[in-house]
Amino acid sequence: TIGMLCIDEKGDIAGACTTSGLAYKMNGRVGDSPIIGAGLYLDNEIGGAVATGMGEAVMKSVGSFLIVELMRQGKSPQEACEIAVKRIVAQNRNYEDFQVAFVALNKKGEVGSYCIHKGFSYAKYQNGEISNNPSQFYI
Ligand code: ASP
Repeated sequence: TIGMLCIDEKGDIAGACTTSGLAYKMNGRVGDSPIIGAGLYLDNEIGGAVATGMGEAVMKSVGSFLIVELMRQGKSPQEACEIAVKRIVAQNRNYEDFQVAFVALNKKGEVGSYCIHKGFSYAKYQNGEISNNPSQFYI
């Protein structure tokens, strides 16, 4: 999955994601990426979130919507991503067997990311500079 969140100089936010789904997926499987609230969600008053990894777990937690709602309640993008991943860990006994990662952006341009397994990173482009940022992780 490729997920992207953008904020312009006026503070307007946009987001998108695209995916090939999972390897060896069942014919007809619909992952989280095309489902608003699961793989992608944004509210231009608050911020946005995108997901990658095991789509079934992201759908079950409505993860990207959850993150935006947590930011609405005052959580930072980082805190909100951590809460969403920990919700998924709590919901799935087999969480060690799959990866889920979230990236979030708020109206102030602050960014956060959290994933289950070490190894996820995201790129940030700002003021002409691109940086690669390893995500914090649960295990
Ligand atoms: N989230 C995608 C899906 O479950 C897979 C991925 O991120 O690679 O369809």
